[in-house]
Amino acid sequence: MARLLRPVVLLALLAAPASAQQPAAPRPEDTEVWQPVPRVVDAGPGPKAPLPRPADAIALFDGRSLAEWTNAEGGPAGWKVVDGTMVVHKPAGDVKTRRRFTNYQLHLEYRVPPGMKETGQSRGNSGLFLAVTGGPGGGYELQILDSYRNTTYVNGQAGSIYKQNPPLVNASRAPGEWQTYDVIWTAPTFGPDGAVKTPAVVTALHNGVLVQDRYALTGETLYTGTPRYVAHGASPILLQAHGDPSPPLSFRNIWVRELP
Ligand code: MG
Repeated sequence: MARLLRPVVLLALLAAPASAQQPAAPRPEDTEVWQPVPRVVDAGPGPKAPLPRPADAIALFDGRSLAEWTNAEGGPAGWKVVDGTMVVHKPAGDVKTRRRFTNYQLHLEYRVPPGMKETGQSRGNSGLFLAVTGGPGGGYELQILDSYRNTTYVNGQAGSIYKQNPPLVNASRAPGEWQTYDVIWTAPTFGPDGAVKTPAVVTALHNGVLVQDRYALTGETLYTGTPRYVAHGASPILLQAHGDPSPPLSFRNIWVRELP
């Protein structure tokens, strides 16, 4: 390795303006979209009890145990089972399914606690990662957030594909109400060279209201930078333990139906 730059190279480096050498580092706010704000739709009251589960569905959480879940490293899931619900325990981190999935239909119910003082992305943030990947975004996040009278960037509110696509409407219920997601996920496919062959496609209903209509993802969901794909196969599904200071969300009645 050369220990010193040759003088001619050194002169060239000194003469070049900084902007010509390197583009500015991407910032998180570069990928925030604030307008237009999705219209609010009153989805009606939340379900008092868990909704029925189809006979051919795999129960990922039926109110009893976390047997279908692990922590991010594959060890025991550290969330709490309380009164038939699965409560996020932030110090234990994210939880993901033991099983791996490709294409599927998924249902889950969640509740954000009432009385939160936090705002924006710090208010009831979690997330449904539709597939865990080894890439820079860790997967593809359908955002979970308290978006009831809580302003944030629209491609980061509840029902968004995080920093890619805002929800068609804001169907969020008030904190304390149970809310539902119903998702149809078509995994991306990759060629032998790892290049994306067909993108991931998602349709999602929030509280029974369509928020994502066959949206084709441009890659993994990223906090900073431009989405891109990194090849993967069948993957776990993950629920996010977000680091914000608001009190934890609860989940119940999570099931999945594998699709061909
Ligand atoms: Mg989130």
